[in-house]
Amino acid sequence: MRHIAILGSTGSIGTQALNVIRRHPDRFAAEVLCAGSNADLLVSQALEFCPNAVVIADESRYPQVRDALAHTSTKVFAGADAMVDLMSMPSIDLVLAAIVGFAGLRPTLRAIECGHPVALANKETMVVAGAIVTAAALRHRVPILPVDSEHSAIFQCLNGEPTPPEKILLTASGGPFRGFSPQQLASATPAQALHHPNWNMGAKVTIDSATLMNKGLEVIEARWLFGTPADNIEVLVHPQSVVHSMVQFADGTVKAQLGVPTMETPIQYAFTYPERVESHLPRLDFSRYPSLTFEQPDRRTFRCLDLAYTAIARGGNMPCIMNAANEVAVRRFLDGRIGFLDIADHVEHAMLSAPFIAEPSLDDLFLTDKTVRNP
Ligand code: NDP
Repeated sequence: MRHIAILGSTGSIGTQALNVIRRHPDRFAAEVLCAGSNADLLVSQALEFCPNAVVIADESRYPQVRDALAHTSTKVFAGADAMVDLMSMPSIDLVLAAIVGFAGLRPTLRAIECGHPVALANKETMVVAGAIVTAAALRHRVPILPVDSEHSAIFQCLNGEPTPPEKILLTASGGPFRGFSPQQLASATPAQALHHPNWNMGAKVTIDSATLMNKGLEVIEARWLFGTPADNIEVLVHPQSVVHSMVQFADGTVKAQLGVPTMETPIQYAFTYPERVESHLPRLDFSRYPSLTFEQPDRRTFRCLDLAYTAIARGGNMPCIMNAANEVAVRRFLDGRIGFLDIADHVEHAMLSAPFIAEPSLDDLFLTDKTVRNP
């Protein structure tokens, strides 16, 4: 039995992870559930899965969660610090990092420092602090198991390969605006951007998919997870989202991992690695996909992808600057305060103006994040 702590249990990844746990009660138990502010869902998850402890980050919701779980044995905590502290529970076997954004960094790093294997969905943690997080994982001999479908695919393609890859081919669906011109994008609305063709995800990652920032974040995530220089990571648009990513080796061989577009498969694989266990999910029906197509991304229109390459090439706190500016810009776009094309402009402006630090400490990264959010 693996006792799993879920950071972000009320989100898209968190609820799909609970589907996996629900289907395998003999293998997995929810040990800790952490939410941001969705107290109703956290309570109903706690009543169903009977975790040892829950945390609601939004302290104003604490009385509601405490009262609703008063008759159970689940311990209830509130606040970001409690979430970090609970990562030291020795009864945890694996932590699923599925909080969205920079907020996931502290508890994820704490989980690693406590020696817990981490199943990583929260790509922003790697983007912001990849050097620090990977060094901590090495120091504490903790595996970081990718959950992002692309990185899970790459991880599987690299399994058993003794030499580093020549190239990673990171696939991208292209999002809802594939083929759009800048003129069309100027009037794109949040509702249109939230309508992803293949994946049902949280709002922030869906907007990131529409701008291609998501792919940029994933390039940086892959750089740290697999040690592959960003110049050897190529993005390919593959609208069917069936080939989850590919790896090319020195002899020209390309290995790909394929599957239906569902996050439950990579979540389950991260939970059971290195084993594969049964899954009821639909199998890939190739007759439904008579053609699998690939094309180059439109980097001139979707500028966020190149901003991410620039950020990782510069290094230091630049990816952190980029990430913070992007989180702010996505929020503003969702609130209707800026247009779709303004997101890239906002990120670029921050990257040109925020103070650069070549070798940032963790404190430097927290300060960078705060400064970029509140210039
Ligand atoms: P959602 O927005 O659906 O969920 C985010 C989760 O984080 C919720 O549980 C939310 O709690 C919690 N949360 C938000 N802010 C805080 C905070 N300050 N403190 C504590 N908890 C917080 O996001 P997704 O599940 O879509 O994405 C999660 C991560 O996984 C992202 O980094 C994303 O890029 C990555 N990812 C997602 C994929 C997907 O298919 N969804 C695919 C691959 C990667 P609440 O709702 O209670 O406020």
